[in-house]
Amino acid sequence: MMVNFKPNLVKKKKYITIPADKQSLSHPSHAGEDFPCPSCSIWITEEELKQNHYICTHCSFHFSCNAWYRIGSIADEGSFREINPCLSTINLLDFPEYDLKLQTAHKKTGLAEAIITGWANVNGIPVGLGVMDAQFMMGSMGSVVGEKICRLVEEVMEQRAPLIIFCASGGARMQEGIISLMQMAKTSAAIGRLHEAGLLYISVLTHPTTGGVSASFASLGDIIIAEPGALIGFTGPRVVEQALGKKLPENFQRAEFHINHGMVDMVVVRSDLKSVLHRILLMHQGGTNAQKEI
Ligand SMILES: [Zn+2]
Repeated sequence: MMVNFKPNLVKKKKYITIPADKQSLSHPSHAGEDFPCPSCSIWITEEELKQNHYICTHCSFHFSCNAWYRIGSIADEGSFREINPCLSTINLLDFPEYDLKLQTAHKKTGLAEAIITGWANVNGIPVGLGVMDAQFMMGSMGSVVGEKICRLVEEVMEQRAPLIIFCASGGARMQEGIISLMQMAKTSAAIGRLHEAGLLYISVLTHPTTGGVSASFASLGDIIIAEPGALIGFTGPRVVEQALGKKLPENFQRAEFHINHGMVDMVVVRSDLKSVLHRILLMHQGGTNAQKEI
């Protein structure tokens, strides 16, 4: 007998959401006004921040920056070519309010999904580039984010070029249930094939890199770079503290904590990132046969 199964999600309890005023590391949207830095409390202007890679000029606090700004700061001018720009998700599970959330995220960011993928030159060296945007549903990984990463990996393998992914994510996208969790295995398998092909993969962990993204492709880089102050971990520090029943160190799960515990290879200030990436790419260039022109 055929059973028409439809998950009953309508009565599901509302999940906890983080109020805007608690998202202290978000990119400010004060449109030209002065505002206090959440770290040192010294007043700063948006223009000042923009001129300084969205790093506080007083205390070096790294504000979040959106994906297009990030691409502009890493790719040589005019070199970025986006691939699969129109892939967007559908509400497969008929999850309440998911369509509305997607629309809101799209309107807020101008993005179709939480990652932009494509090709760019970094000081003349062609690379496959993926950049996540935490402002699109907290950079959560659903079916499209996973698919775009896998398609990028396939192109990178075809061209035998290096791959760089900037991670920024709250984890798997709960509105896609098991399908979003499946992306962890799917992206990990794709990166596994990249490793077998002997190609370079640099993972750059920005604030925050957590949940299913931290437990999959974000942690599989041949070289893992983190930005100062970035929160990196599977479960948040408050939950870990409650589970262990003891106080955690103040910088627990921050980039500086991880470098001291061997979880990342470097902590690099945003303004130095392009030159550091370029040096790493140069060191590994001998093994690749990347295309000269994109
Ligand atoms: Zn500051």
